[in-house]
Order: sequence, then structure tokens, then C-alpha cells
Amino acid sequence: MAIQDQTAVAATTTASIEGFDSLSVPTFRGSTILYPDYQSFVSRGDRGFNEYSYGLHGTPTTNTLRQKLTGLEGGVDTLLAPSGLMAITTAMLAVLEAGDVVALPETVYAPVRRFAATTLRKFGIESVFYDPVDLATLEVYLDRLRLIWVESPGSITMEVQDIPAICVLAARHDILVGCDNSWASPLLSKPLELGADIVVEALTKYLSGHSDVLLGSITVRSNELAQKLHQSARSLGLGVSPDDCFLVLRGVEAAAVRLTHIGATALILAQAIERHPSVEHVLHPALPAFPTHTLWKRQFSGSSGLFSFVMRGEPEAAFAARFSRLNVCRIGASWGGVQTLLAPVDPAPERTFAGGFKSKHVVRMSIGLEAADDLLADVNRFLA
Ligand SMILES: *Cc1c(COP(=O)(O)O)cnc(C)c1O
Repeated sequence: MAIQDQTAVAATTTASIEGFDSLSVPTFRGSTILYPDYQSFVSRGDRGFNEYSYGLHGTPTTNTLRQKLTGLEGGVDTLLAPSGLMAITTAMLAVLEAGDVVALPETVYAPVRRFAATTLRKFGIESVFYDPVDLATLEVYLDRLRLIWVESPGSITMEVQDIPAICVLAARHDILVGCDNSWASPLLSKPLELGADIVVEALTKYLSGHSDVLLGSITVRSNELAQKLHQSARSLGLGVSPDDCFLVLRGVEAAAVRLTHIGATALILAQAIERHPSVEHVLHPALPAFPTHTLWKRQFSGSSGLFSFVMRGEPEAAFAARFSRLNVCRIGASWGGVQTLLAPVDPAPERTFAGGFKSKHVVRMSIGLEAADDLLADVNRFLA
């Protein structure tokens, strides 16, 4: 057979999928989408955002994940992004224009601050900061805002925000509300049902759950917002890998079981740490002593495994030495996987409201799937 003929055989031969009825979502890869004839090709621009036209804009694998997330969030449509951070930035770029103002809670995921100070500013979009638990600090900006961003609980210090109250204020002034729901995932909280217009998840965290994929999602409550998102994503050239979506689709299947286990273990740890004399206090919204505990009870159906604790004052070297005593917990950022992680964090530079945040030695903990007793022993070594 001539060499060119073999290329043709390779290109046209595919095994039949007939009879292969798998439980797993197939991973469809592809850039080119074939069109059956001249007419369907030249009119491909008429295909809607949810029809197939080019691999970048969607495959059956990516669309399956979009549909599952839309259902879990209770929205009308979902867009996927290559990271949780890019889901946030894409949502903002889709709804903000030059001259607009966006309000960010001072507890916002820190890279969003950098995005606001660099990219948003470059395009003439102003950002202002408010106290996540004092809505008077938000109300002063209401007549200027286009978007209120919410992150509940907030990064590191875990303040729960009153999403329904913020949405009432926003509706009166025709302001959009977007929420980073990564701590809870849609399994523990549904911000769209609480009144938000846009919800973002870092799928990197609980929904994938194994520290091996980076992906984000944006789910919206209206078709109008969905159109804006799709237009923005198309103009940016935003797309995601079907292989990454496969990993999240697999992660979602056991996410409820993982989160139930992780949430219960985290509470056991948080309560033990709270009683330890080396600890000033624990920042976990499900603890009754936590300041926004009642808001958490109203808006969440459970708690996940990410919380922080504040050590009593001690020399830097003594604090640093604690981390070398760990046998089970690992040191690392990101969170939501099966292995418990600890990280020293310092929220102080980014906290200005209510007198600022004084404590220097804060530890963030992401609980994994290890046995609670093993983790308790490790944490007791750390705190000793
Ligand atoms: C990790 C994180 C993100 C970003 O997710 P990536 O996929 O790592 O970009 C967004 N929000 C919060 C609250 C996070 O902790």
C-alpha cells in the first residue's frame, strides 16, 4: 500500500461505539468540527452558543460538566474557565465597562485584588473595598456601583456575608451581585437561590477534590448574563481541556461523600484546636463562638474543611519550628484535596476595617480524608 493511502486508512478508521454503554462520561477531544455540506458550513455562525462549531467553544464532555453545574447551582447556564481565578476575572470582564465601579470585600481572594489594581484599572474600571460584615461601608458606594463582589466565607479570616441583605440593596440600585462560592461548593450553599446573579466556583478545590486539576466555573441566573459571558469568552479565546473536565466530572460523583466526611473531621479538629492553650481563637463559621455563625446557619447546609486558627503571640522562630513537627499534615497552598494541608498565612496587610487584623501567626488548614485521630495527634504535636 502506498504511504499516502495508509494516511487515509488511519484518518477514516474508527471502532464502532455501538454496544459500549459505559457509566463514565466519554472524553471527546477535537479542534475541527466537520460539517456535512456547503450550506451547514457557511451558516455555522448561526449556531447558538450551545451548539458545536469549534472545539474551543465546547465538546460533549465540557458541555456535560456545564450542564451538571448549572443544575447543582440552580442557574440557567454555566461557562468553564481554565482556573477559579480566571472564572472570576472573566465574569468581571463580561459585565464591567470603562467608567464602572466594582465593590470587593476586603476578604476577597488576594489575586482578585491584583487583577483589580492592574487589568481592571488599565481599562478604566475602578474598584473599592468594603467590610464584609458591615454593610454601611458598602452603602456609601451604592449609587456608583455596577457590580458587588461577594466571597462567603472570606479568604483566611472566614467572615460570612449576608448575601440576601446585599442582594436587596443591590436590586434597589440595579447593581449585579457576583459570589465566589468555592468554600462551600454548590453542595453546601447556592448563592443564586439567595439572590446573587453570578456564582463562581474554583473547581480546583472540592468539586475535583484531588489536587490534580485547575478549573473554574461561572453560573448565571439569566439568559442575558449568559449571552454576555459567552460573547466575552469567545472574544478572549477562552476554552478548557476536555481531559480536565473529565477529572472534575469524576470528582463530582463522590464530592458529597468526601465533603460530608471532610466537614465532620474539620469540626472535630476545629473544636479541639479551640480548646488548646496555645491558640487564641479558631476562625471556622460552624463554631457557635464565631462572630458570623448565625449567618452561616441561615445560608449554608453544612461546613467544608477549610478553616484557620490564630496562635497566641510567640517569637517568629518558635512559630516556624512548629511546622517541622508535622508527620501527617503537609505544608502547601490551595486546598480541597484528599490530603490535609497546613499553611502559615498573614491576612493583616489586607485588613483595614474595624481596626485591622492584629495577629501575625495565623495557620490555614484544609482537612482531607485522613482519620480524625491521626490528624488530632499531628495537630497536638504542632500546638505543643
Ligand atoms: C483557590 C481559590 C480561587 C482560585 O482557584 P484557582 O483554580 O486556584 O485559580 C478562587 N477563590 C478562592 C476563595 C480560592 O480559595
